Amino acid sequence: MPGSRTAHVVCSHDCPDSCAILVTIDESGVATRVQGDPDHSVTRGFLCGKVAKYLDRVYSPSRLLYPMRRRAGAPKGRMPPGREADAFERISWDEALDIITERLGLIAREHGPESILPYSYAGTMGVLGYGSMDRRFFHRLGASQLDRTICATAGADAFISVYGTKLGTDPEHFRHARYIIAWAANIHGNNVHLWPFVEEARHQGARLVVIDPFRTRTARVADWHIPIQPGTDAALALGLMHVIIKEELYDRDYVAQHTHGFEALREHVAPYTPEHVSCLTGIAAADVTRLAREYATSAPAVIRLNYGVQRSQNGGAAARAVCMLPALIGAWKQLGGGLQLSTGGAFKFNTEALERPDLMLASPLQRPARIVNMSRLGHALTELDEPAVKALFVYNSNPAAIAPNQNAVVRGLMRSDLFTVVHEQFFTDTTDYADIVLPATTFLEHKDFQGAYGHYFLQLSEQAIAPLGEARSNVWLFSQLGQRMRFPEPCFHDSVDELIEQALEAPAMEDITRQELEAKRSIRLQSAGNGDLLPFAKGVFATPSGKAEFYSSALAAEGLEPLPAFHPPDESRRGADAHTFPLEFLPRKADHYMNSTFANLPGHQKMESPGLVFMHASDAAARQIGEAELVEIYNARGKMQLRARIDGSVPAGVVAASLNWNKLSEGGNNVNALTSERLTDLGRGATFYSTLVEVRKLTPTKNLFPPID
Ligand code: SF4
Repeated sequence: MPGSRTAHVVCSHDCPDSCAILVTIDESGVATRVQGDPDHSVTRGFLCGKVAKYLDRVYSPSRLLYPMRRRAGAPKGRMPPGREADAFERISWDEALDIITERLGLIAREHGPESILPYSYAGTMGVLGYGSMDRRFFHRLGASQLDRTICATAGADAFISVYGTKLGTDPEHFRHARYIIAWAANIHGNNVHLWPFVEEARHQGARLVVIDPFRTRTARVADWHIPIQPGTDAALALGLMHVIIKEELYDRDYVAQHTHGFEALREHVAPYTPEHVSCLTGIAAADVTRLAREYATSAPAVIRLNYGVQRSQNGGAAARAVCMLPALIGAWKQLGGGLQLSTGGAFKFNTEALERPDLMLASPLQRPARIVNMSRLGHALTELDEPAVKALFVYNSNPAAIAPNQNAVVRGLMRSDLFTVVHEQFFTDTTDYADIVLPATTFLEHKDFQGAYGHYFLQLSEQAIAPLGEARSNVWLFSQLGQRMRFPEPCFHDSVDELIEQALEAPAMEDITRQELEAKRSIRLQSAGNGDLLPFAKGVFATPSGKAEFYSSALAAEGLEPLPAFHPPDESRRGADAHTFPLEFLPRKADHYMNSTFANLPGHQKMESPGLVFMHASDAAARQIGEAELVEIYNARGKMQLRARIDGSVPAGVVAASLNWNKLSEGGNNVNALTSERLTDLGRGATFYSTLVEVRKLTPTKNLFPPID
């Protein structure tokens, strides 16, 4: 089109693919098209269904366009979709910033600055939007630090305990694999840019095996789906190692040269016979043996491990055990072999410069602030004291929907003495409890840069269009707040370009400059142990022993198990409460939403069909539940309403439902009404997939908030 231009942006949603996107902008500055960059070797010219329609989201009539405060007398609490604005009145940015700085200052003086709690995660994966000026602001304020554990810390700690650095098989190398295990990885659903490489490998004869309790889209098209019982992955991985060692299928050279603790491992896995593992996992003993043999003898073999495995009480041990498999068979040596959990360890930016933790020493505390675990927000808002949380500042997140133990979270958010600020793109479940709502930009409306956790490209994300309405970026917001607080440090005046330059001042960034990044837009990193594109082939391990560690002395020193073992989660069919709540619950991510993002968009709702609980026919029959009937799914923490879907997606004893917004769910609660604040064995992470429930048929009642058409 004459007069139009193209901008290069990066999808900043919490997805391993970090797609390169070309945005067409017309003469009037309106974005008219988004498309995957055809020149990017991982994006390969296409986008997922979620983002292919991204302009519907950017220009949605529901976007928040100006700051608002709660009207006098308007109570906090859930509002029906489309009516949220009734509780708020428009204010200017000046007023909003003044109110926030005044209230935070008052709360800090009266209760101590640690009574202020930031709450954010990966609603934007842009480096600056995720964590830069915001961290500076809260550090200088002396606010509580947030332990960002809700997604991946158990798996990250597990991988690092074995290999020292979070690197993995390059996605483009999957095309060379001959045996691919998707372990809790719905590649076809939510890692779609890996899928073409998997397909390429399969055309060359590779087998695809899916290990997942749910029959995902990937499982449906796999060569072999193994429906493991939830939370038992450690047992299966240990059983595979048992067979591989017993049958001498391991790589003697690699194990001798590059691993530590093999003899201890050999002894440790001896009890995990296929028969024993079968009892623990629900997988036939013959299948355990077959999987071990096929995996160990079909080189190159690669595992795509995803984060579902580690969101269980035993999840750290499970991830450790799975991560050890490629070291045992020497798969890292081969192009197309190895394992990918995350490639995020390649992107070691200068976070000290970006986040300035030293500013805590200049705060009124004059020391590092306390750390509050985001996976225990309900506890933080209802029980934590000395000091109690008096102000909550939410950005890049929707905790009323995504945090576990939701009823405790909501009780906390309802507190009249809690001052809550939410920086958001739309009204959400969380804005229903806000005192101040601030409009946020989407990734088309601000400049940032980004790494990835599913490939090795560093990318620039240009500002494609002007912010909608009065929407502002995280960097702008916290820079303004820092200045308005009259913090004397010049770092609160740093520009976006200066922040990018500071972040790139790190050895892992290979002397890449902002100017070079702006010119090339996408640069493949070559270092970080990835120089020969086989990260652990030659045994470069940043572990205490300098080798891949089957046995971890570091974990032993912390009082943790040095070798991964299977322990049934407290909330599992082997747990004490199983007689009251006999069904294991999988609160899954929706295929067409990104956590809670996109759930409010009609086009995405049509793709997703939310509001279903997947049941096994035997479990449904035992409760006289038929297809599409309304049921209540409940435990001691809460309940929700769903429609039964009995289609063979789950094994007996397991039920599954996907994350939605509360206000868009039948009955007004989502899956996190049922999940607990119990933490993982490693990494202090959330244990969404260790949840027991019961289900009963429900007489239909009037919906509290019917879904949008
Ligand atoms: S959500 Fe993932 S697959 Fe979709 S466009 Fe963004 S990065 Fe790509």
